[in-house]
Amino acid sequence: MRVWGAVQYVNEEGGPEVESDFVTRTALVTGGASGIGAAMARQFVAAGGRCVIGDVQDERGRALARELGPGCRYEHLDVTDEDDMRAAIDRTVDAFGALDCFFGNAGIVGALGPIERTPAPAWDRTVSVLLRSAFLGVKHAVPVMRSQGSGAIVCTASVASLRGGLGPHAYTAAKHGVWGLVRSVAAEIGAYGLRINCVAPGGTVSALSASLVSGDGDDLDAAYRRLAAASSSGRPTTADDVASAALFLAGPGAARINGACLAVDGGDDLVAHKAR
Ligand code: NAD
Repeated sequence: MRVWGAVQYVNEEGGPEVESDFVTRTALVTGGASGIGAAMARQFVAAGGRCVIGDVQDERGRALARELGPGCRYEHLDVTDEDDMRAAIDRTVDAFGALDCFFGNAGIVGALGPIERTPAPAWDRTVSVLLRSAFLGVKHAVPVMRSQGSGAIVCTASVASLRGGLGPHAYTAAKHGVWGLVRSVAAEIGAYGLRINCVAPGGTVSALSASLVSGDGDDLDAAYRRLAAASSSGRPTTADDVASAALFLAGPGAARINGACLAVDGGDDLVAHKAR
């Protein structure tokens, strides 16, 4: 039986009785091959859920799905492509019988530099990967969840969704858009028993921040050191910190939370405001 609350079950192998909120819970995690998405996939499966990882990094995504076992699958998904998005959602339902959580998380930094030197194609690409993707995911997840009568959507916004000066222009504009989309859609889908919220990470140790810090997406140590030095708490936000918040928003403990944006930055944004 699929429920929102905690349930008890005996696993299919006749193993011990386990209490879990995620017994048959299923998720599609975009950008799940790396960073925050990979942490979410790991936590979701560890909690007893089943998860489809959608990404364009096929080798990495497949390796993670293999590591996580039969509760996890990989699907090639370019989040800017509507056919890909529809297919990944359909395949999640085909594979695991439901779509209880859509985690719209894939992202890039995109166009850098001053506004007068931002090329329009780079702007369009950034907005497409960050914002069009959220729109497409929500558009195709909602009818599936509506027919189930339940479901939770979580989008990865950013502290750059909340104010300016924290990221490049296209990134900041697109992330403001993600938060706007979440608020707008929340007002519609609450009536169907569905919820949508976003997590807003501060600087988080991942390939994305590592490539900004050192030009090498694999140099997570450099990202850790730089972000720790910049943080008021002396340590950076990790991908697991953000995934835990997303998992909470997707789960039964957040049953009355709809249209919220949860900052995951150790309070650094507040500290920065206080210092002004
Ligand atoms: P990451 O680079 O480790 O992961 C991003 C993933 O998105 C990668 O696996 C990448 O292949 C995938 N991706 C990129 N373009 C895609 C596309 N077109 N289709 C499908 N997948 C695609 O970085 P991360 O930090 O884990 O980023 C996850 C999200 O968190 C992003 O939306 C990012 O903007 C957001 N975020 C990150 C930080 C940070 O400091 N790292 C801060 C705030 C918000």
